[in-house]
Amino acid sequence: MIDLHSHSTASDGVLTPTALIQLAVAEGLQAIALTDHDTVAGLDEARAAADESGIIFVPGIELEIDWQPGIFHLLGLGLKDWTGPLRSRLVRVQEYRTTRNLRMVDRMQKAGIAINYDELIKTAGHHTVGRPHFAQVMHQKGVVASPQEAFDRFIGNGRPFYESKRALSVGQACATVHAAGGKAVIAHPNTLGIGWDELSRTLFRWKHEGLDGIEAYHPNNSLSDAHRFASLAEELGLIVTAGSDYHGIGRSNRRLGRSSGGRPIDVKFLDPFVEAA
Ligand code: AMP
Ligand code: ZN
Ligand code: FE
Ligand code: FE
Repeated sequence: MIDLHSHSTASDGVLTPTALIQLAVAEGLQAIALTDHDTVAGLDEARAAADESGIIFVPGIELEIDWQPGIFHLLGLGLKDWTGPLRSRLVRVQEYRTTRNLRMVDRMQKAGIAINYDELIKTAGHHTVGRPHFAQVMHQKGVVASPQEAFDRFIGNGRPFYESKRALSVGQACATVHAAGGKAVIAHPNTLGIGWDELSRTLFRWKHEGLDGIEAYHPNNSLSDAHRFASLAEELGLIVTAGSDYHGIGRSNRRLGRSSGGRPIDVKFLDPFVEAA
């Protein structure tokens, strides 16, 4: 059993990179990828922990891509160098986010909601400031009765204080992943928000922009959809991957090493990421 998609406290996971690796070892995994959102901050710690325990570590990342109408997350798997061009690209991604956050704060202030950026930073702690922190602060201030109400009324997509942020294009993100020595794989393809026919055409186009694979197996996909994604990938000559998208106990009922239909992830999915160094 292995896992090619997981999160730590370096983004929105519950476990530290070390604790995540320890859990993977305890669960009997042979390999694990750490794929935090738009950051490589956890990779050095995870690699050190993996080296100590003997589990195979696959350095990764999950990048947000500019895409309508759904959600497009791109996994970079098997990264070899995360100090060069990838890091400078991530600094820019961080700037896009800060710009968006400041615009949202500004608009709320103008509408008479007393919220400021320092409070958001304090609430986020070591995490990147995102809309969940806006929701938390608005709840603390009594603007809304629950964080969810903040999304539903104010900051969810298309709501009055929602601001979109710039994100990477598919081509930019694939090139960045390749420059870091990794493979570019579409995460949870069901969130793209397009039908099967359009998906097939679109994947073909993205392949020409550098796409290497699809995460056909994800807990959000039924086993039959997963098989369908996998055969589509094979038709197009794309890699098939499988992951749990584990965020920690209490964050969902996902389990490390388990994907579509709760099935354990076969070690064969590791093959494309373990070429001789
Ligand atoms: P951001 O990256 O700052 O735009 O925040 C995105 C995060 O906000 C997502 O990962 C979700 O955790 C959360 N989120 C977005 N939309 C909603 C929603 N409608 N209801 C609850 N949480 C949401
Ligand atoms: Zn996440
Ligand atoms: Fe994702
Ligand atoms: Fe994820």
